[in-house]
Order: sequence, then C-alpha cells, then structure tokens
Amino acid sequence: MVQKVAVIGGGAAGLCALRHLTARPEQFQAVAFEQNSRVGGTWIFTNKIGKDENGLPIFSSMYKNLRTNLPKEVMAFPDFPFKTGAPSFISHEEVLQYLENYATHYRLYKYIKFQTIVETVRPLKGDNNTSWELTYCPVKERDQSCTELFDAVIVCNGHYSVPLYPDIVGLEDFAGQVIHSHDYREPEKYADLRVVCLGAAASGQEICLDIASKAKQVYLSHDTPFLKTDLPSNVEQQPGIKYLTKSSVIFSNNEEVEIDALILCTGYKYSFPFLTEECHLKIEQERITPLYKHLVHTQFHTLSFIGICKRICPFPQFHCQIKFVLSVLDGSTVLPSQEEMDRDTERDYQTRLEEGLPPRHAHTMGPRQWKYNDDLSCMAKFEPIPKVVQQLYDYVHDERNNYLSIYKEVDYELVDDTIFKPIQRYK
Ligand code: FAD
Repeated sequence: MVQKVAVIGGGAAGLCALRHLTARPEQFQAVAFEQNSRVGGTWIFTNKIGKDENGLPIFSSMYKNLRTNLPKEVMAFPDFPFKTGAPSFISHEEVLQYLENYATHYRLYKYIKFQTIVETVRPLKGDNNTSWELTYCPVKERDQSCTELFDAVIVCNGHYSVPLYPDIVGLEDFAGQVIHSHDYREPEKYADLRVVCLGAAASGQEICLDIASKAKQVYLSHDTPFLKTDLPSNVEQQPGIKYLTKSSVIFSNNEEVEIDALILCTGYKYSFPFLTEECHLKIEQERITPLYKHLVHTQFHTLSFIGICKRICPFPQFHCQIKFVLSVLDGSTVLPSQEEMDRDTERDYQTRLEEGLPPRHAHTMGPRQWKYNDDLSCMAKFEPIPKVVQQLYDYVHDERNNYLSIYKEVDYELVDDTIFKPIQRYK
C-alpha cells in the first residue's frame, strides 16, 4: 500500500526527505509544507528582523557576511556534491543556490505547498502505526484552514529560529543596543562601538570576528575555557556576565568595562508549536523525549524528526536519518520495543551527564556523530557516509580551534572516499 507522508519544512532536511520519498513512488506519496515562498530555510538571507510581510516571525538567522564554517566538500549530501573547485568555505548565497539546484535536479518543487503553514498535527490513535491529521493554511489567509490525513509525518522545521534568552541581572536597565544573534545582520551597525558578544559557540565566535572588522573593541564573553586561538587585536576574551549597569558590563571576574552594545549569542530553543498534546512530546531543558536515536517517536513510529542533533555535519546526517526513517516506514527496519528504545535513549542521555555535560546537551553530537550515522546505516542497511567526510570534518575542526581567524583561507579537495588534500592558499 502506498503511504501518504507529510513533510513539514522545505529547508535542507525537508528537501532531503522529499528526495528520498519521491524516489520510491510505489511506496510513498509525499507532500511538503513550507511557510516561505522558496526552499532553503535557514539559508534564505533577509535584512529584515521582527515580522515578515505575513506577520510571521522572521525565520532565518543568516547574516550578510556569513561564510560556511564547514568546507563544502563535507557539507554536501552524499549523492549531490557541490560544484568542485575553490573556494571550500562558501557564502550563504552559494548554499542556497546548491539547495535550489538539489530541488530542481530531483524535481521536488511539484511536491511542495509553498506559503503554507502547518498549524496542527494530531495522531488519530494511540498505537505505534497511527495515522495523522494535519491542519494547514495559506500564510496570507490564516482563517482558511484545510485538514488532511497522512500515514506518517516527518518534521523538518529547523531549530535555529526561536532565540534562547539568558537571564542577566540588570539587562532591563542597560541603555545600549541589545539583540540576539538571530537578529544580527551586518557589522556596519557596530562601527567604532564597544561590543560584548555573549556566548562562544559557533555563532558567537563567527559573529565576534565579523563585528571586530568594524567595531572599536569586542569582548567575547563566555563560561567555557578560553579559546587558545588567534584573535584580532581588538578582541578580548572575558568570562561570563555577572551583571549589567546602564552603560557597562561587569564580568564574573569583577572586571567592569563600558560598552555600547550586547549581542546574545546564546542559542536557540526547539519549538514545535503545531504538535498537539496528544503527540506526547516533551521538551525539558532543551531535551526532547521520547525520541529513539534523536529521531523516531518511541510511542508513534510514524512520527519522526530530522535534524534535532547539534554540532554535526548536517546534510550528511539528514541523509542518514531519512534513509533510516524510510526503512522504519517500509518495515525493513523493525524497531525494538518501546521500553527498549526508551532505555537506549536514557542510556545515551546518562552517558552525557556522566561526562559532565549539562541536560541541554542531550542532542549535542560532536565526535559522537560518526558512530551514530554508522549505527543508522548499519541498522537500516544503507551505504555509510564515506570516511573522508569525518576525516576532513575533524581536520577542519582542529584547524578552527587553532586558527579561528584564518582557517577558512584554505581550500580542500577530496581525492577519494578516504583521502582529502588541503590546498594551502596563504602562509
Ligand atoms: P531549516 O533550514 O531551519 O528549515 C526549516 C524549514 O521549515 C524552514 O524553511 C521553515 O520556513 C519551515 N517551517 C517551520 N515551521 C513550519 C510550519 N509550521 N509550516 C511550514 N513550514 C515550516 N550548517 C552547515 O552545514 N554549514 C554551515 O556553515 C552552517 N552555518 C550555519 C550558520 C547559521 C547562522 C545557522 C543558523 C545555521 C548554520 N548551519 C550550517 C546549520 C543549518 O541550520 C543546517 O545546515 C540546515 O540548513 C538546517 O536545515 P533544516 O531543514 O533542518 O532547517
């Protein structure tokens, strides 16, 4: 029997889901819902902040000067390489173009309902192969809802859109500019200013460098060990913020400096506003349960979530997750019992806690991602991601840790499935 599958989102994950679903028309009939008018999700740059023309919160957190922090040689879906040749670290426009090319190449556009927002997703029964009722409406006519039934739902709605704001004593009294990195667009606004970037994960590091090109002084404030890397002369690392006054920041080492602006690079929240209570999905301290392999709902096997994991090589992992989900839907992978899956999830979580990670890192992967991807490919019997992807990813990770300001000035070439070659551009 052909299964009707709804895909929520037309970013990289949603496109990857569609590409594999539509390749098997004898088994799946797919529809994707995308609230924007084009594919690409997070890679669609806009200067706007706040609300869009339809009154929806601006979705993308992309900024003008962003270049990828991974070389395109590892970013690509395994079945659709970027065009070869330099440079390796490309602009957001080039990634968007790549995703559009992917959608064109696999003829995905006809399966996407654009400018359509999914409002509710509800299981029809309580058992693991339940079907689903979706309501959706055009973004311009929110009162014109339609209801449609699906055999399965694949959620691909991204998780870099809803800012996570920290509690900072004195924040309301601070008179300077305050934004979340979600609303950061360009460094020109910070010309000659003294700026604090709070948070030193990928966004904090990259935005700090971008701003340093124009600002007078940038303080990279964070509670993690200080980066041991090259930084521009106008960037200084400081520990986290103790409190703010009207015009200054007091760091937790009690140092006080006058500042003009604060950028909160403090991450994002998972958000699934369309899932009804009957979906039994819990988010506590940025941990989503009950998901087997960060992916399949352990009570409802016909509900899955692509792209939940953080600190990963995203597109290759989406590929693995989709292949796994389709093998669950077609019955070729038989999932363990609900209790066993919940135990597996709990074990994974406890290991992280034992390593000293806080609960909000329940879905953080880092070095774990390769075994995770391989486990999925082994369980669902599909071709694993070539080893060269891990090798180049790990190499660039080290380069970035040591040479943050210049690591993007090197290009790479994949020689074969196990060997890559750096092409040194600058000494
Ligand atoms: P998204 O791209 O967020 O797409 C989700 C889609 O779902 C959106 O189009 C949205 O409109 C749609 N949607 C959401 N809710 C609904 C709804 N209710 N109804 C209909 N549609 C809905 N990755 C890399 O590989 N390399 C990088 O260099 C890199 N840099 C990054 C820099 C920044 C600033 C950010 C924010 C992310 C970066 N990433 C990078 C990670 C990037 O998020 C992933 O590569 C990937 O694009 C995520 O794809 P996605 O499909 O999961 O989510």
